[in-house]
Amino acid sequence: MTAIKVLDHGYVDFVRIDGDDEFLAQTARTSTQSSGDPQKDANLVTRLVRDRHTSPIEFGGVVMEIAMPIFVARQWMRHRTGAFNEFSMRYTEAMDVFYVPEPERCQAQSTFNKQGSAESLDIMVAQEIRHRIYNQSIGAYSEYKKLLDLGLTRELARAVLPVNYYTKVRWKIDLHNLMHFLLLREDSHAQYEIRVYAEAIHRMLKAHFPIAVTAFENHIQNRVVLSRDAATFLAERMLDNYELEEILSGNPSLLSELKEFGRRN
Ligand SMILES: Cc1cc2nc3c(=O)[nH]c(=O)nc-3n(C[C@H](O)[C@H](O)[C@H](O)COP(=O)(O)OP(=O)(O)OC[C@H]3O[C@@H](n4cnc5c(N)ncnc54)[C@H](O)[C@@H]3O)c2cc1C
Repeated sequence: MTAIKVLDHGYVDFVRIDGDDEFLAQTARTSTQSSGDPQKDANLVTRLVRDRHTSPIEFGGVVMEIAMPIFVARQWMRHRTGAFNEFSMRYTEAMDVFYVPEPERCQAQSTFNKQGSAESLDIMVAQEIRHRIYNQSIGAYSEYKKLLDLGLTRELARAVLPVNYYTKVRWKIDLHNLMHFLLLREDSHAQYEIRVYAEAIHRMLKAHFPIAVTAFENHIQNRVVLSRDAATFLAERMLDNYELEEILSGNPSLLSELKEFGRRN
């Protein structure tokens, strides 16, 4: 796959992809014959994602390589369901690569969300901030090199590097848990710097699992929650609406979903 560039020096690259939409459907049909019908397979994969029948979805997966600032990796590693292997600064010298936010990303602290950002700062202030981050980072790397020159071991010299330095990891994760990661990290409450990685992964993943990822977007990421009263109101009208089949004759999967909704509520 072709890597997608993220932030100023980062990227995501899919090193290996396990399965595809057809394979997910085949896995779900372990007890029955393969349908051989792509439309039936697509409907099945959509239902699996929608109804959270997670184990067949876990048969899809990705191994990816990610270059990201250390502070992004710290958030990333909270996702316990994948396997990580990180570039070792004990084994190899740190890369002289660090993150400097774009001027428009130099935003004020939000006053109503303690974890959030507000409007972009004035461009002159933003340039000063970028300049300071740049100088601080260069200075830290020069200290790091001095400590190495003095004979200090790499595993301790790295202590002077700030968390905007880039690190590199390999991450292996199954499709179900990767969609969970996207749900949390593409959300507007997630920090911008991890959100842009999640968005890049989403695009690459959709190119390979178009049906599963579309079902995720439709039924999980952008789902709408209704109260029981609202659902009953709609369901009653749907069951009474004899025109429904005619209107949705070209969209059998939406028709069956709405009929199911009517029966359930
Ligand atoms: C917007 C945002 C703000 C955040 N702020 C903070 C913060 O201020 N401080 C902080 O420390 N963290 C913070 N986090 C991290 C957050 O608390 C989670 O640790 C992180 O998002 C991983 O979520 P997860 O546990 O669902 O994912 P994963 O670790 O990938 O787990 C996936 C799912 O597997 C199940 N699971 C995994 N491990 C276990 C287990 N041991 N026992 C039972 N079930 C398990 C759970 O159902 C879990 O949802 C934040 C995350 C987001 C998205």
